Amino acid sequence: MKKPFVAGNWKMNTDSNSSVELGKCIASASLEAAGHDVTVAVCPPFVYLQAVARALSASSVAVGAQDIYYEPKGAFTGEISASMLKDIGCTYCLCGHSERRHVIGETDELINKKVAAGIGGGLLPILCVGELRAEREASQTNEVVTRQMKNGLAGLSAEKVSAVTIAYEPVWAIGTGLTATPQQAQEVHDFIRKLLGQMYDGRLAEEIRILYGGSVKPDNAADLMGQRDIDGALVGGASLKADDFLAIIQAAV
Ligand code: PEP
Repeated sequence: MKKPFVAGNWKMNTDSNSSVELGKCIASASLEAAGHDVTVAVCPPFVYLQAVARALSASSVAVGAQDIYYEPKGAFTGEISASMLKDIGCTYCLCGHSERRHVIGETDELINKKVAAGIGGGLLPILCVGELRAEREASQTNEVVTRQMKNGLAGLSAEKVSAVTIAYEPVWAIGTGLTATPQQAQEVHDFIRKLLGQMYDGRLAEEIRILYGGSVKPDNAADLMGQRDIDGALVGGASLKADDFLAIIQAAV
């Protein structure tokens, strides 16, 4: 049985005090009770990563980066490598979040290099995929997700891909208050799992965790995560409120 996984993406929010406070609140007694049954991670902004990682080092909450650069070191002004993230206690890194694809302009090719660099550097990448509203309306969801999955994981062996978590995040549901229905989400998760079976093998496809993201809140989390192929949630807005995030974690148990 796979352990469910709930990750919080804090995006460009919090400050030096509130990031550590939020981390500590999440690593509270109620989480410790659920912590054996759910994998929990938070992804603070880069500048607060080390402080949050230190504050959570004795807890069961892991820390992830919201992005990564694929080169190991050198003249890449403003970028952060996998080894730097590993050095400060990071476990996970988001790769290809929709805001990086559609606001910053990251391509599948760049995202693929980031996933590979994350694995190579000992991190556990969370590869985000998902369609725009217009693509869903044009019935292109499966096509878009197939392209993002195949390109994002290009050149990676099954063994390497076993380090990856997939997050299906329909772009029209991120930060909008709109959520895919549990059935809509399950359909795409089932599609992604079958695709992984074709790309690799059935065992890997069953073992990989596929998270849903897109306006997950305490009141819809249980229905979403109750679907057969939804193994957890990537949570944006609701991960900034400790009570809401803890309620979502409880819904995963
Ligand atoms: C996200 O940031 O990945 C996300 C899903 O955001 P929200 O939960 O706010 O829609």
